[in-house]
Amino acid sequence: MLILNRMKIIEGNCSLCGEFKKLSFEHVPPAAAFNNSPIFIQGYEHLTDENSYLYGKKKKSNKGFGGYTLCESCNNNTGDWYARDFVEFAIQGMEIIKKKELQYDIKGTYTIKPLNVIKQILTMFMSADKSGHLQSQKDLVEFILNKESIGMPERYKVYLYSTLSPFKRMMGYSIVYDPKLGIQKWSEINFQPFGYFLTEESKPAHEHMCDISTFDSINYDKKLSVEISTAYLSVNSPEIGFYG
Ligand SMILES: [Zn+2]
Repeated sequence: MLILNRMKIIEGNCSLCGEFKKLSFEHVPPAAAFNNSPIFIQGYEHLTDENSYLYGKKKKSNKGFGGYTLCESCNNNTGDWYARDFVEFAIQGMEIIKKKELQYDIKGTYTIKPLNVIKQILTMFMSADKSGHLQSQKDLVEFILNKESIGMPERYKVYLYSTLSPFKRMMGYSIVYDPKLGIQKWSEINFQPFGYFLTEESKPAHEHMCDISTFDSINYDKKLSVEISTAYLSVNSPEIGFYG
Protein backbone atom coordinates (compact mmCIF):
# COMPACT_ATOMS: atom_id res chain seq x y z
CA MET A 1 0.00 0.00 0.00
CA LEU A 2 1.31 3.43 -0.96
CA ILE A 3 0.65 6.50 1.16
CA LEU A 4 1.28 9.93 -0.28
CA ASN A 5 1.12 12.64 2.36
CA ARG A 6 1.10 16.40 1.93
CA MET A 7 4.87 16.65 2.27
CA LYS A 8 5.04 14.38 -0.78
CA ILE A 9 6.80 11.73 1.21
CA ILE A 10 5.81 8.40 -0.19
CA GLU A 11 5.61 5.54 2.24
CA GLY A 12 4.86 1.91 1.64
CA ASN A 13 6.22 -1.61 1.80
CA CYS A 14 9.60 -1.90 0.14
CA SER A 15 9.44 -4.29 -2.83
CA LEU A 16 12.73 -5.85 -1.77
CA CYS A 17 13.07 -6.04 2.05
CA GLY A 18 9.31 -5.77 2.63
CA GLU A 19 9.58 -3.22 5.48
CA PHE A 20 7.09 -0.35 5.70
CA LYS A 21 9.27 2.72 5.14
CA LYS A 22 9.70 5.92 3.21
CA LEU A 23 10.16 4.90 -0.43
CA SER A 24 12.51 6.40 -2.97
CA PHE A 25 12.27 6.49 -6.76
CA GLU A 26 13.94 3.45 -8.26
CA HIS A 27 14.87 3.74 -11.92
CA VAL A 28 14.20 0.48 -13.76
CA PRO A 29 16.70 0.08 -15.32
CA PRO A 30 19.23 2.42 -13.63
CA ALA A 31 19.16 5.97 -15.02
CA ALA A 32 22.60 5.68 -16.61
CA ALA A 33 21.46 2.68 -18.65
CA PHE A 34 19.67 4.92 -21.19
CA ASN A 35 16.84 5.62 -18.71
CA ASN A 36 17.24 9.30 -17.84
CA SER A 37 14.66 11.05 -19.95
CA PRO A 38 10.88 11.46 -19.67
CA ILE A 39 9.00 8.47 -20.90
CA PHE A 40 5.42 7.39 -21.49
CA ILE A 41 4.48 4.35 -19.50
CA GLN A 42 1.63 2.03 -20.29
CA GLY A 43 1.01 0.29 -17.02
CA TYR A 44 -1.07 -2.79 -16.40
CA GLU A 45 -4.05 -0.77 -15.19
CA HIS A 46 -4.04 1.26 -18.40
CA LEU A 47 -4.28 -1.80 -20.53
CA THR A 48 -6.58 -4.27 -18.87
CA ASP A 49 -9.24 -2.40 -16.95
CA GLU A 50 -11.67 -1.09 -19.52
CA ASN A 51 -13.69 0.62 -16.80
CA SER A 52 -10.71 2.69 -15.76
CA TYR A 53 -10.61 6.19 -17.22
CA LEU A 54 -6.94 5.54 -17.89
CA TYR A 55 -7.74 2.70 -20.25
CA GLY A 56 -5.91 3.15 -23.51
CA LYS A 57 -4.07 6.22 -22.27
CA LYS A 58 -0.50 6.57 -21.25
CA LYS A 59 0.91 8.28 -18.21
CA LYS A 60 4.05 10.33 -18.33
CA SER A 61 6.97 9.87 -15.97
CA ASN A 62 9.43 12.76 -16.02
CA LYS A 63 12.04 10.74 -14.20
CA GLY A 64 12.20 7.88 -16.66
CA PHE A 65 11.00 4.32 -16.30
CA GLY A 66 10.54 3.20 -12.70
CA GLY A 67 8.57 3.92 -9.57
CA TYR A 68 8.52 4.46 -5.82
CA THR A 69 9.25 0.85 -5.02
CA LEU A 70 12.33 0.51 -2.81
CA CYS A 71 13.19 1.94 0.61
CA GLU A 72 16.19 4.26 0.68
CA SER A 73 18.41 1.60 2.19
CA CYS A 74 17.60 -1.04 -0.47
CA ASN A 75 17.82 1.58 -3.22
CA ASN A 76 21.23 2.78 -2.02
CA ASN A 77 22.61 -0.70 -1.32
CA THR A 78 21.65 -2.25 -4.64
CA GLY A 79 22.77 0.98 -6.33
CA ASP A 80 26.22 0.68 -4.75
CA TRP A 81 26.59 -3.05 -5.17
CA TYR A 82 25.09 -3.79 -8.60
CA ALA A 83 23.78 -0.83 -10.61
CA ARG A 84 27.12 0.41 -11.98
CA ASP A 85 28.02 -3.05 -13.27
CA PHE A 86 24.61 -3.43 -14.84
CA VAL A 87 25.05 -0.07 -16.58
CA GLU A 88 28.38 -1.26 -18.04
CA PHE A 89 26.62 -4.37 -19.30
CA ALA A 90 23.85 -2.31 -20.95
CA ILE A 91 26.35 0.08 -22.56
CA GLN A 92 28.30 -2.85 -24.03
CA GLY A 93 25.01 -4.38 -25.21
CA MET A 94 24.10 -1.13 -26.94
CA GLU A 95 27.46 -0.98 -28.75
CA ILE A 96 27.09 -4.58 -29.88
CA ILE A 97 23.49 -4.25 -31.07
CA LYS A 98 24.27 -1.06 -33.05
CA LYS A 99 26.93 -2.95 -35.01
CA LYS A 100 24.53 -5.79 -35.82
CA GLU A 101 21.59 -3.76 -36.95
CA LEU A 102 18.76 -5.76 -38.50
CA GLN A 103 20.35 -9.09 -37.58
CA TYR A 104 18.39 -11.70 -35.65
CA ASP A 105 21.34 -13.24 -33.84
CA ILE A 106 23.17 -10.60 -31.80
CA LYS A 107 26.44 -12.18 -30.77
CA GLY A 108 29.06 -10.38 -28.74
CA THR A 109 31.80 -10.61 -26.10
CA TYR A 110 31.03 -8.81 -22.87
CA THR A 111 33.49 -7.99 -20.10
CA ILE A 112 31.23 -7.92 -17.08
CA LYS A 113 30.69 -8.88 -13.45
CA PRO A 114 28.03 -11.55 -14.01
CA LEU A 115 26.78 -11.93 -10.42
CA ASN A 116 26.42 -8.16 -9.99
CA VAL A 117 24.52 -7.96 -13.29
CA ILE A 118 22.03 -10.73 -12.51
CA LYS A 119 21.38 -9.30 -9.04
CA GLN A 120 20.54 -5.91 -10.55
CA ILE A 121 18.19 -7.62 -13.01
CA LEU A 122 16.49 -9.41 -10.10
CA THR A 123 16.24 -6.10 -8.21
CA MET A 124 14.43 -4.67 -11.24
CA PHE A 125 12.01 -7.60 -11.22
CA MET A 126 11.35 -7.01 -7.50
CA SER A 127 10.57 -3.36 -8.29
CA ALA A 128 8.26 -4.32 -11.15
CA ASP A 129 6.30 -6.81 -9.05
CA LYS A 130 3.22 -5.29 -7.45
CA SER A 131 1.74 -8.65 -6.43
CA GLY A 132 4.09 -9.11 -3.46
CA HIS A 133 4.80 -12.69 -4.57
CA LEU A 134 8.51 -12.21 -5.34
CA GLN A 135 9.00 -10.22 -2.12
CA SER A 136 7.52 -13.14 -0.16
CA GLN A 137 10.21 -15.53 -1.50
CA LYS A 138 12.68 -15.26 1.37
CA ASP A 139 15.49 -17.19 -0.34
CA LEU A 140 15.27 -14.95 -3.40
CA VAL A 141 15.29 -11.79 -1.25
CA GLU A 142 18.28 -13.12 0.70
CA PHE A 143 20.15 -13.84 -2.54
CA ILE A 144 19.72 -10.21 -3.59
CA LEU A 145 20.28 -8.53 -0.22
CA ASN A 146 23.43 -10.50 0.64
CA LYS A 147 25.78 -9.29 -2.06
CA GLU A 148 28.28 -12.15 -1.58
CA SER A 149 25.65 -14.88 -1.77
CA ILE A 150 25.91 -17.15 -4.84
CA GLY A 151 23.30 -19.56 -6.23
CA MET A 152 19.87 -18.22 -7.06
CA PRO A 153 16.94 -20.40 -5.87
CA GLU A 154 16.74 -23.15 -8.51
CA ARG A 155 13.07 -22.60 -9.38
CA TYR A 156 14.06 -19.27 -10.96
CA LYS A 157 15.73 -18.72 -14.32
CA VAL A 158 16.69 -15.44 -15.93
CA TYR A 159 16.65 -15.08 -19.73
CA LEU A 160 17.91 -12.33 -21.99
CA TYR A 161 17.04 -11.13 -25.48
CA SER A 162 18.02 -8.15 -27.60
CA THR A 163 15.58 -5.42 -28.49
CA LEU A 164 15.49 -1.75 -29.44
CA SER A 165 11.69 -1.58 -29.37
CA PRO A 166 10.34 1.72 -28.04
CA PHE A 167 7.39 -0.15 -26.57
CA LYS A 168 8.20 -1.03 -22.94
CA ARG A 169 6.96 -3.80 -20.72
CA MET A 170 7.39 -3.73 -16.97
CA MET A 171 5.51 -6.78 -15.83
CA GLY A 172 5.80 -8.18 -12.33
CA TYR A 173 5.01 -11.76 -11.39
CA SER A 174 2.24 -12.97 -13.69
CA ILE A 175 0.48 -16.30 -13.94
CA VAL A 176 -0.15 -16.79 -17.63
CA TYR A 177 -1.96 -19.42 -19.65
CA ASP A 178 -0.06 -20.14 -22.82
CA PRO A 179 -1.85 -22.41 -25.34
CA LYS A 180 1.36 -24.33 -26.12
CA LEU A 181 3.09 -24.31 -22.72
CA GLY A 182 0.15 -24.37 -20.29
CA ILE A 183 0.23 -22.40 -17.02
CA GLN A 184 3.44 -20.36 -16.78
CA LYS A 185 4.79 -18.03 -14.09
CA TRP A 186 6.55 -15.18 -15.79
CA SER A 187 7.86 -11.64 -15.27
CA GLU A 188 9.22 -9.44 -18.03
CA ILE A 189 10.99 -6.11 -18.42
CA ASN A 190 12.31 -4.73 -21.69
CA PHE A 191 14.41 -1.66 -22.10
CA GLN A 192 16.86 -1.17 -24.93
CA PRO A 193 19.22 -2.89 -25.67
CA PHE A 194 17.79 -5.89 -23.81
CA GLY A 195 14.69 -7.63 -22.65
CA TYR A 196 14.80 -9.57 -19.37
CA PHE A 197 12.59 -12.54 -18.67
CA LEU A 198 12.18 -14.26 -15.28
CA THR A 199 10.55 -17.67 -14.96
CA GLU A 200 9.47 -19.51 -11.83
CA GLU A 201 9.26 -23.27 -12.45
CA SER A 202 8.30 -22.38 -16.02
CA LYS A 203 9.62 -22.36 -19.55
CA PRO A 204 10.82 -19.22 -21.33
CA ALA A 205 8.29 -17.55 -23.63
CA HIS A 206 10.54 -17.83 -26.70
CA GLU A 207 12.87 -20.69 -27.62
CA HIS A 208 15.72 -18.36 -28.61
CA MET A 209 15.94 -16.46 -25.35
CA CYS A 210 19.39 -16.79 -23.81
CA ASP A 211 19.52 -18.39 -20.36
CA ILE A 212 21.90 -16.31 -18.22
CA SER A 213 20.99 -17.98 -14.91
CA THR A 214 24.53 -19.30 -14.46
CA PHE A 215 25.65 -15.71 -13.82
CA ASP A 216 24.49 -16.62 -10.29
CA SER A 217 27.48 -18.88 -9.62
CA ILE A 218 30.30 -16.35 -10.17
CA ASN A 219 31.77 -14.64 -7.10
CA TYR A 220 30.69 -11.11 -6.29
CA ASP A 221 32.71 -8.44 -8.13
CA LYS A 222 34.54 -11.00 -10.27
CA LYS A 223 34.94 -9.71 -13.82
CA LEU A 224 34.81 -12.16 -16.72
CA SER A 225 34.76 -12.17 -20.47
CA VAL A 226 31.49 -13.79 -21.57
CA GLU A 227 30.22 -14.67 -25.06
CA ILE A 228 26.52 -13.98 -25.26
CA SER A 229 24.26 -14.64 -28.21
CA THR A 230 20.83 -13.06 -27.94
CA ALA A 231 17.95 -13.25 -30.39
CA TYR A 232 16.48 -9.95 -31.52
CA LEU A 233 12.82 -9.89 -30.49
CA SER A 234 10.35 -7.10 -31.30
CA VAL A 235 8.07 -5.90 -28.54
CA ASN A 236 4.97 -4.29 -30.04
CA SER A 237 2.23 -5.12 -27.57
CA PRO A 238 1.67 -5.09 -23.82
CA GLU A 239 1.20 -8.85 -23.78
CA ILE A 240 3.86 -10.63 -21.70
CA GLY A 241 5.92 -13.15 -23.66
CA PHE A 242 4.58 -12.11 -27.06
CA TYR A 243 6.91 -10.92 -29.84
CA GLY A 244 6.72 -9.93 -33.46
ZN1 LIG B 1 13.96 -2.13 1.55
